[in-house]
Amino acid sequence: MDCIFCKIVAGEFGTELLGENEHAISFRDINPQAKIHILVVPKAHTSDVSKLDDPDTLTGLFELIRKVSSEQTDGQFRLQFNTGEREGQSVFHTHAHILSQGAA
Ligand code: 5GP
Ligand code: ZN
Repeated sequence: MDCIFCKIVAGEFGTELLGENEHAISFRDINPQAKIHILVVPKAHTSDVSKLDDPDTLTGLFELIRKVSSEQTDGQFRLQFNTGEREGQSVFHTHAHILSQGAA
């Protein structure tokens, strides 16, 4: 499968990680839409959050969202899962956007 986020998970691009646990990784968005714009990505491929039903993956993803958002923002942020092309999704591997105007 030709999935850019699976390749980042596999370390193919040497992307600098802001955090990692057993189920997810986090890194800065290449095209930031806010002062802080971070992506949190489950390691296992699903196309979007509506398909993400594995409890361990969900827990790991949200544990990393909580850790990275507390470390990288001032505690105020938006959490966004674009789902479907019409709603702005361009990479079809589930990911959360953490967007904030305030750095930690
Ligand atoms: P979506 O539009 O699918 O919700 O979000 C995909 C995001 O991934 C976009 O904000 C885009 O800038 C980001 N992105 C796409 N390719 C790469 C990449 O190779 N590296 C990084 N760090 N971000 C990427
Ligand atoms: Zn993938």
